[in-house]
Amino acid sequence: MNPPSTADGHPNRGLSSPGSNLVRGGAALAEALDLAPKVGAMLDARTAGFPVRATRHYLSLIDKADPHDPLLLQILPTVEEGRATPGFVRDPVGDQRADHHRAPALVHKYPGRALLILTGACAIHCRYCFRRHFPYEEVGEGGRRWAAALKVIAEDTSIVEVILSGGDPLSLGDAALGDLVEQIAAIPHVRRLRIHSRVPVVDPEQVTDGLARTLGGTRLSAIFVTHFNHARELHPLAVAACDRLRRAGLPVLNQSVLLRGVNDSVESFVALCEALADAAIVPYYLHLLDPVAGAAHFEVGEEQGRALIEAARSRLPGWAVPRLVRDTGAGPAKRLIA
Ligand SMILES: *Cc1c(COP(=O)(O)O)cnc(C)c1O
Ligand code: SF4
Repeated sequence: MNPPSTADGHPNRGLSSPGSNLVRGGAALAEALDLAPKVGAMLDARTAGFPVRATRHYLSLIDKADPHDPLLLQILPTVEEGRATPGFVRDPVGDQRADHHRAPALVHKYPGRALLILTGACAIHCRYCFRRHFPYEEVGEGGRRWAAALKVIAEDTSIVEVILSGGDPLSLGDAALGDLVEQIAAIPHVRRLRIHSRVPVVDPEQVTDGLARTLGGTRLSAIFVTHFNHARELHPLAVAACDRLRRAGLPVLNQSVLLRGVNDSVESFVALCEALADAAIVPYYLHLLDPVAGAAHFEVGEEQGRALIEAARSRLPGWAVPRLVRDTGAGPAKRLIA
C-alpha cells in the first residue's frame, strides 16, 4: 500500500493524528503564526525534502512576538538550512552504514540493544533532526516492514533491549504499536523495551491512559524516553501525559539536544533541568548536535556544553543533571563528554 499523500507531500505512514491538529507546510505555518503569506511560500521553497510540520499544541506555546522564540527556532526553517557546511553530512551517526543495518528497519550499533526504526512520520519536524535525510522509504510499509527486523532479533540472543524509534513510534497508532509490542515480548531473550518519542511534548493528548497501559502492560521492563528541549515545553498537558505513563509503570526519562538559541545559556538549561525534575522526569542525555546537513546553525561547542553541565551540577541534585554525550557513529556507546 502506498502511504497516503499529504498536504505537505511528506509521508504520514500511519500517523495516528493526521487531522486538524497538524500544521503542515509553510503556508499553514505562516497563517498559524500570523506571518505574511509570502513567508510561507519561501519556507516551502527552502524545505522540499523535509517540509514544515508542527502541532497546534506546540504552536500554542510559541511567543509569536519573539522572532527568536526558542520553540519557534526548532520548527522554523531558516535560510541557513540550505548552506553547505564542511563536516555536516546526510548520515552523521552512521545509522545507514551497512554493518549497523541488520535489516531494513533495524539499527544495531551498540551491544545488547537494537533500535527499530518504525516509521518516518513525526508530528513535528525538528529542523535539527539527525534523521532528516534518512531513507525511510527503504524501510517499507505495513506490518511486514519490521518482520525481517523481528526475525534478526529473535535469532540474536545478545539483543536484550529493543528501542522503538523513528520518526516517532507513537505515529504508528495505538493498535499497531500494541501489536508490535506483543510480538517483541514473544521473543524470550528480550527483557526490556524502550520507547523514544516526542509525542508527549508536542501532542500530549495522544498519550492516553489506554496507550500508557498498552506500553506498561507488557512482561518487558518498559522505559519511556521523551524529548523536551526547553522549560516552556513542559506545559501542564505534557506533564500530565508523562504522569499517565508513569502511573502505568513506565519510568520517564528525557533526552535533549543542545541547540544554539534554544537551551545553550546557563539560565535556559538549568530551567529545563528544574522543570524536568519538578515533573519527576529524569534528565538522561544532553546530546551534542549531530552534524547533519542543514543544521549547522544550531551547533554549540563541546566546551560550552561542559560549562553548562558544570553549572547545572552546582545548582541541582545529581539525578537532575543529564550526561553530555556525542554520537560519534563508532565505538560501543555514545561518547561521554561530561
Ligand atoms: C543512542 C542509540 C542507542 C541507545 O543508546 P543508550 O546509550 O543505551 O541510550 C541504541 N542504538 C542506537 C543506534 C543509538 O543511536
Ligand atoms: S520528533 Fe525526533 S525524529 Fe521526529 S523530527 Fe523531531 S527529532 Fe527528528
